[in-house]
Amino acid sequence: MAGPELRYDGQTVVVTGAGGGLGREYAVFFGSRGANVVVNDLGGSFKGEGKGSKAADVVVDEIKAAGGKAVANYDSVENGDAIIKTAIDAFGRVDVLVNNAGILRDVSFKNMKQADWDLIYRVHVYGAYKCARAAWPYWRKQKYGRLISTASVAGLFGSFGQTNYSAAKLALVGFTETLAKEGFKYNILCNVIAPIAASRMTETVMPPDVLEHLHPKWVVPLVGVLTHKSSTETGSIYEVGGGHIAKLRWERAKGALLKTDDTLTPGAIAAKWKDVVNFAEPEHPQGPANAMELLETAAQLPPSAP
Ligand code: NAD
Repeated sequence: MAGPELRYDGQTVVVTGAGGGLGREYAVFFGSRGANVVVNDLGGSFKGEGKGSKAADVVVDEIKAAGGKAVANYDSVENGDAIIKTAIDAFGRVDVLVNNAGILRDVSFKNMKQADWDLIYRVHVYGAYKCARAAWPYWRKQKYGRLISTASVAGLFGSFGQTNYSAAKLALVGFTETLAKEGFKYNILCNVIAPIAASRMTETVMPPDVLEHLHPKWVVPLVGVLTHKSSTETGSIYEVGGGHIAKLRWERAKGALLKTDDTLTPGAIAAKWKDVVNFAEPEHPQGPANAMELLETAAQLPPSAP
């Protein structure tokens, strides 16, 4: 069953890194569903070298040829102000930002160069910040905004040879969770996806038969749902790709609570280790534990056994 057709008429959607891969699919989708689309792409290699206008232009032409509305922007996401300015100049507003642009600099930690670390940080974290920061005042003023941040399972779980990329991708989770809290009363909804899709980024690390099932178009519908005006979902993380769509959340073990006096020693924690790691009665926190409540309870506990 296809379900209702979600549309974005009159809205302006900015997709970064929309000259290929996942970004191109998002841009074409929004263009076909009534949105004004800003197709941003720096046009360099997947390692972040070079630049050019062709990647974005091809996608803009494709959207227009199908009857949609789109403009190109060739700035790096590090220059997010210019990207959002393109949206305002061309369409007078910005409603949705899909922070998607990305590069890879995979290398073992032993061999990592400063440039590998810095460039990954600048494109994924600083770039996402700059684009969101530029859109934020418009969203607050119009009391409407939708942000998608692109994380990765590499960030959520770690991945060999990707310390730079993993760190940057998980940084986007914290960034987005906080924006979800700050944006909520302005109807600014912010969510994170950890996609998996066949693209130039993954074609070297996945076998062809696996890639066949992972067309980037299977990531698009979730982004469509989360960015639609009917959505109420915010501060969430999703794994998505190849037809699989699942929300993730933090799980906290039951934990140990020890009196905060001299009996709180390494030995006392070791003695309670079963509780520290006991996931039989899990909690699913959405913010820091209520510190005052825990302190009060801990103060009333008997001392830990020596
Ligand atoms: P891709 O290389 O096909 O697309 C990335 C696009 O971003 C490219 O068109 C590139 O030119 C553009 N870009 C790179 N640096 C830029 C910059 N500084 N400013 C503007 N544009 C820039 O890769 P993709 O697989 O489509 O990746 C899209 C996003 O999804 C990335 O953030 C990536 O880290 C993330 N991701 C992808 C997968 C996957 O399985 N493909 C998995 C996890 C996360």
